[in-house]
Parts: sequence; structure tokens; C-alpha cells
Amino acid sequence: MTDNHNDTTGIDAQLLALAHAMTDLDHPVKVDMATWAREHLAQHDRVEADHESRFAEADWQRLADRGVMKMINGVDVGGSGADLATMLLTLEGLGHGCRDNGLNYALVSQMLSTQVALERFGTPDQHAQWLTPLMNGELFVGFGMTEPGAGSDAYSISTTAEPLPDGSYKINGHKAYITFGSRFDMALVFATTDPKLGRWGITAFLVPGDTEGVERGLNRAKMGMRTTPFGDMTFTNVIVPGSAVLGAPGSGAAIFNAVLEVERSYVFITQVGAMQRQLDDAIAFATGREQGGGPISSHQAIAHRVVSLKERHETARLFVYRAAMASAAGNNVSMASALAKIAACDAGIASAIDAASIHGARGYVSEYEVERDLRDAMGGLVYSGTSDIQRNIVARQLGL
Ligand SMILES: Cc1cc2nc3c(=O)[nH]c(=O)nc-3n(C[C@H](O)[C@H](O)[C@H](O)COP(=O)(O)OP(=O)(O)OC[C@H]3O[C@@H](n4cnc5c(N)ncnc54)[C@H](O)[C@@H]3O)c2cc1C
Repeated sequence: MTDNHNDTTGIDAQLLALAHAMTDLDHPVKVDMATWAREHLAQHDRVEADHESRFAEADWQRLADRGVMKMINGVDVGGSGADLATMLLTLEGLGHGCRDNGLNYALVSQMLSTQVALERFGTPDQHAQWLTPLMNGELFVGFGMTEPGAGSDAYSISTTAEPLPDGSYKINGHKAYITFGSRFDMALVFATTDPKLGRWGITAFLVPGDTEGVERGLNRAKMGMRTTPFGDMTFTNVIVPGSAVLGAPGSGAAIFNAVLEVERSYVFITQVGAMQRQLDDAIAFATGREQGGGPISSHQAIAHRVVSLKERHETARLFVYRAAMASAAGNNVSMASALAKIAACDAGIASAIDAASIHGARGYVSEYEVERDLRDAMGGLVYSGTSDIQRNIVARQLGL
């Protein structure tokens, strides 16, 4: 993700590219990706996969082979160095074309959290060991901050990392509700070396999943995004060398903050694409379904719901691209990223309800793949910092 704030020409070019992306709903990068995703991803058994919480491993590899995971990282660490506009258009196209929202969420979650953290704070050895295989789709990572007793109050974690005389650390603790927590090859674990220091005592560690004392939880059943692997990670007397520290000891909270700001800016970009698919489907259904001698789209009640889908899709989209523009311009993005998350999440839920309503019974029955969007959208209220916490951020910025 090219992000050179000292280069005015680079900034202008990025802002121009983002302005084009923002205003062109049929941008060729997005259309190409949507067409490819429609033809290659989520082809079979989607309802069963959702029912069985089955992750689409082969599709994950297809995405890696197409170079999608590489787009978030710069060329100097082996990424493709895509500009922000190209990356967002590609992910938006993915959301439009690929009907497996859980696969799409797993992808953006990994790219926007661990891959960003590794590039910004990792050493060349850590890039080679972890970032390269992640970009190639060869392994999975659990980004572990949340614990049973530490959710929104993230810095109250009780997972400990005891420094040992030889420079290594002993990690003990339990991380809960982690994306890929049921099947990670590496855990990025936030732990405290001294609970009395609060946020200043937190350090991030890169822990190989096969280290003695590391345990993966069962895949937890959940309301939506069921095809995203999800579970707990436990650490019992896990010894890691000093070289497993990401960034500097004590910098864990700063790393978490920096990464979460990126994540909450763009994590809804595939959902924005999915909202366009929802709109396409609703128009096709409303114009094709006849009741009382004509298409249901002739009823204002239905037409207005379709218009609301259109309006919310574009609103969500504008907020996400606006957060990108703030970032490209080098501005503080905490307000823009919080608003992007609130707007896109609320729009996704409201539109999923309208889409279900437009489809009548078919919107309630699983086989028509309409109701799933509502269940999938609900998770957005919680991940990347709950919507309440985002509202707290905005309220603070407004001086409240
Ligand atoms: C699909 C999904 C994927 C996830 N992936 C990950 C992951 O990869 N890594 C990870 O570390 N975590 C992950 N999480 C966990 C997520 O980050 C936490 O669930 C979230 O931070 C909220 O914590 P909690 O569930 O403990 O809720 P709590 O913090 O207990 O909140 C409960 C309720 O109280 C509200 N509340 C709490 N504090 C405040 C406050 N100060 N002001 C206003 N309202 C407040 C909340 O908004 C919420 O409505 C994931 C969660 C989901 C659903």
C-alpha cells in the first residue's frame, strides 16, 4: 500500500486515483475483479458451507495466486505495492463478485491487521518468516488481543509474558473470539510483561502455532460470517525467544492502535461490494416477481426499498473512500475511520433487512441466499472495535 507522505506528486496522484475510484461505480479494476470472482470463487454448496461453517481453502489459494493478499504490502517487503485506490477497487470487486462474505472478511481481516503490522513493525527476518508465506496464502494467522475479560477495554488484558534471564519470554493466557483462532499457523499475541504498567506494559509476540503449550480452540459456531474460521487461542507456559517480539518491548498498544485504525477504515470494503450485489439481486427479483398482475417493482413500497439499497450502498462506499483520501493526504484518520465503520456497518444491516423484505418468504428461507447477508452484516457491530466504541471516538473528537 503505497503511502509516501513526503512526496507531493505521489500524494496528488493517489488522491486523483481515489477520486476516480470514488466517482466511477464501474471502474475497470473493480469490474475485472468482480467478473473474475464471479467465475472462480464460491461456485458450489454455499448454503451448506454456511450451515457447516466450512472455510473455502481452495478459494483462499486462488486469491493468493491472483496476488490479492500482496496488494496491501510494499514492494520492498515482497508485496505488489499497489496504490490505495487499486487495492480498494479490487477488494470492492471481490465483495461484488464473490458470494462468500465469510471468505472475504477473513481475507481483509488478515491483510489489514497482521500484514500491516508485520510490514510496519517487523524485522527483515520476520518478514521472510511470516509475511512472505502470508502473502502467498501458505499459512493462517490469529491476531490475538481480545480475551474473555478484555474486550472493548482491550488494554486490560491478563495474558502475561514473563521475561526470562536468557532474553526469552514465557507466555500464559487465553485469547477469545479470534478470526482464524481455530486454525492458525502463527499467533500474533498481545501480552503484558507487567500488568501494573497498563497499556505501556503490552508487547506483541509472533508465536509459531506448533510451539509447545499453544492450543487452537474449536471452530466456534456463530450467527454469520460462518465460513470464517473463528475460535480461541490458549498459551500455557509457552517459551519464545526475544526475536519473537514484534516492534519494541512495550510497544504493543501503539502497534494495536495503528493497525486498528487501518482495519476500521477499510474492513467494510468487501461489504460495500456485497451491497452492490444485493442491489443487483433485488432489482432482478423485484422486476421479475409478479403479484396482482404486474411486477412487484411497480409498488412504490418495493421501489423505495430498492432506492434505499442504492443510497446506502453509495453512502457506505463514499465513507470508506473518504477515509482512504484522508490517509493518502496524511491527515489524522481517527474520525474518518470511525465514521467509515459506523456508516458502512449500519448501512449493511439496514439494507440486508430491506433486501430480505423485498424477497418475501424467499428472503427468509436460507436456500435463496438473502437472509445470510443480514447474519453476516451483524458481526460488523462488534469486530474492529464495536460501533459504540467508534461513536465514543467521534464524540471525543467533537469535544463531547
Ligand atoms: C466476527 C468477529 C471477529 C473477531 N475477530 C477478532 C480477532 O481477530 N482478534 C481479536 O482480538 N478480537 C476479535 N474479535 C473480538 C472483538 O474485537 C470483541 O468482541 C470486541 O472488541 C468487543 O469485545 P466484547 O465482545 O468483549 O464486548 P464488550 O467489550 O464486553 O462489550 C459489550 C457491549 O458493551 C458495549 N461497551 C463496552 N464498553 C463500552 C464503552 N466504553 N462505551 C460504550 N459501550 C461500551 C459494547 O459496545 C457492547 O455493546 C472478533 C469478534 C467478532 C464478532
